[in-house]
Amino acid sequence: MRETKAKKAERLKQALEILRETYPDAKPELEFGSPFELLVATMLSAQSTDKQVNKTTRVLFPKYNTPEAFASLAYGELEPYIKGCGLYQTKGKNILAASRIIVEQYGGEVPKDRDALMKLPGVGRKTANVVVSNAFGVSAIAVDTHVFRVANRIGFAKAKDVLNTEKQLMEAIPEELWSIAHHWLIFHGRRTCAARNPKCEVCTIREYCGKYIEEH
Ligand code: SF4
Repeated sequence: MRETKAKKAERLKQALEILRETYPDAKPELEFGSPFELLVATMLSAQSTDKQVNKTTRVLFPKYNTPEAFASLAYGELEPYIKGCGLYQTKGKNILAASRIIVEQYGGEVPKDRDALMKLPGVGRKTANVVVSNAFGVSAIAVDTHVFRVANRIGFAKAKDVLNTEKQLMEAIPEELWSIAHHWLIFHGRRTCAARNPKCEVCTIREYCGKYIEEH
């Protein structure tokens, strides 16, 4: 029997409640001490693990951690620090170019506006959402690979791409929970709902998960 709209809303509400209880310590796993550090760490994180990025920034940030410091670096000076991250050449060049724009156009302050952030080289919607929500407290849902997979499995979204997943998540989840729900979904994706072999048998939200219900 087809699930009614009201039943689905109730199911998703329960799933969110349990995710909240399951991950009371959910927070960004990237280490940062300022909006600019978060921007750089997030730019380094594509196709790299947060663990690898933290290892990199623990050495990099004590040496350079402001837009001014990065803006005056030549690429060759940055490269040795970021070599452990995937796609480091492109990322490094983008970080230096973005730093120069932040210094020249924004007085050395990371813009708080998502659209302005997205105009920086190498900054896509996901990175911009991570920065505005975690550094500036703006409600946003950054859809990375974990959020995309988990949201579509549970049923918060039914979409083939990240943009529509983000839009549907924003409709399904109250705005005040957008930023923290993003962390709950990432934590769940990393710890239980893996891409391959999700641990459904021990999953705390299985009775509220669309995929599980459909398959059982
Ligand atoms: S029941 Fe399985 S598919 Fe659903 S959220 Fe849990 S681990 Fe993921």
